[in-house]
Amino acid sequence: MKPYLTVIGGGLAGSEAAWQAAEMGVPVVLYEMRSVTPTPVHKTDRCAELVCSNSLGNNLPHSAPFLLKEELRKFNSVVIGAGDHHAVPAGGALAVDRELFSQEITERVVNHPNITLKREEVVDIPDDRPVILATGPLTSPNLSAAIAKIIGQKYLYFYDALSPIVDANSIDYSKAFFASRYNKGGDDYLNCHMNEEQYRNFVRELNQAKKVPFASFEKAIYFEGCLPIEELASRGEKTLAFGPMKPVGLPHPETGKLSHAVVQLRRENKAGTAYNLVGFQTKLTYPEQKRLFTTIPGLENAEFFRFGAIHRNTYINAPSLLSSELDLVSHPGLYFAGQITGVEGYVESATLGLLAALSAVKRIKGEKFVPPPMDTAMGALYHYVTTKRSNSYQPMNINFGLFLVKEMKIRDKKVRNQKIAENALESLCRWRDVLNEQVISPV
Ligand SMILES: Cc1cc2nc3c(=O)[nH]c(=O)nc-3n(C[C@H](O)[C@H](O)[C@H](O)COP(=O)(O)OP(=O)(O)OC[C@H]3O[C@@H](n4cnc5c(N)ncnc54)[C@H](O)[C@@H]3O)c2cc1C
Repeated sequence: MKPYLTVIGGGLAGSEAAWQAAEMGVPVVLYEMRSVTPTPVHKTDRCAELVCSNSLGNNLPHSAPFLLKEELRKFNSVVIGAGDHHAVPAGGALAVDRELFSQEITERVVNHPNITLKREEVVDIPDDRPVILATGPLTSPNLSAAIAKIIGQKYLYFYDALSPIVDANSIDYSKAFFASRYNKGGDDYLNCHMNEEQYRNFVRELNQAKKVPFASFEKAIYFEGCLPIEELASRGEKTLAFGPMKPVGLPHPETGKLSHAVVQLRRENKAGTAYNLVGFQTKLTYPEQKRLFTTIPGLENAEFFRFGAIHRNTYINAPSLLSSELDLVSHPGLYFAGQITGVEGYVESATLGLLAALSAVKRIKGEKFVPPPMDTAMGALYHYVTTKRSNSYQPMNINFGLFLVKEMKIRDKKVRNQKIAENALESLCRWRDVLNEQVISPV
């Protein structure tokens, strides 16, 4: 029997993975459970349904999300192709007509001669390999249990509690100071000090700010160990100053005295290009986060790589589990793709679908997978999900803070990012050409 690929989940990642492998001549069996078993949020049985916003993210040429889309275009991505065909006016974003978008992807998947779509819920992980598991943030409970059995319960998470991340270049270092509490740990943290008036205003605004309500199926995740800052603020004016904003052990370096409150920022990566606001998980809307967090002294001009969030999300601790080929170290040939690997967002998920498909096809052909170069957006995401870390692993959108690029002496941020993007596309095309030379031979 000709070797074939099994893909579980016909969402953004699974559709892209199935399509890419099929285009490379590999027969694919794609399982999608909707129409037989619903999820709490999907409304149709179409492939690649967009469950919430109809935006595929920023489309401005100097942005990292734009670059990721451009890179996917170089691989004739079925997801971005449908996005481009069904774009609707949305300022600087690529927003789409969601019906036409998922309809086109469904038709292209169903009508592909190498793809067989099976409408059923997979409850156990198939023994045949390779398998790409792309069942997303709402992986069915039966399959979640099977995954937990194979990887261990402690490596499977069921919710995100994300703090905002800011661009290190946008922080005002005349106001934010490096120090660790009680001088333990050197200059590991950046500290933004607040006086009493600034703190009181902050708490008042926090209490009045617009929040995103929890969906009914998410209520269970709202628990004491990981409360959003607005919930802490609502419990009393001093609660935050005794919690994530406590100033003890952090005297102001200029006065030597304790401030009323301190917001701590911790490095997000080794290069120190991004910082997260410690303990600032939140359900505030994105515009409210921008409005409120830029009142913190030192963050007035902060640019956000990621906003805070708390929501239901099934994902694995990918860096601890996945090999450099994106399959489980413990179970070679069992690949993970999409949001379940710990990337966040429609386009990021499709990207992981593409990468897992490229790697799985290599396995079928008995060849070695060459990962995407680190100076590309795809390489940045690949590096994020496969690099072991000591701090906790949290879902991430594409952003320039993830890129590993040579230092550039270009002060203007837009110009610098444009240069990074140009280099990335050249680098990506060289990599694609090497891959193509290898995969055009018949399977
Ligand atoms: C409530 C909510 C709102 C979101 N809003 C946004 C947003 O506005 N913008 C954004 O970029 N991202 C958003 N996301 C994240 C978004 O879901 C992902 O970015 C994207 O859909 C992930 O792609 P995926 O392919 O990994 O998962 P999905 O697109 O969810 O695809 C997974 C597929 O697997 C199927 N499946 C699950 N279990 C099984 C099984 N056992 N057998 C067979 N099939 C199975 C599901 O039916 C689904 O079709 C949201 C997520 C949630 C939960």
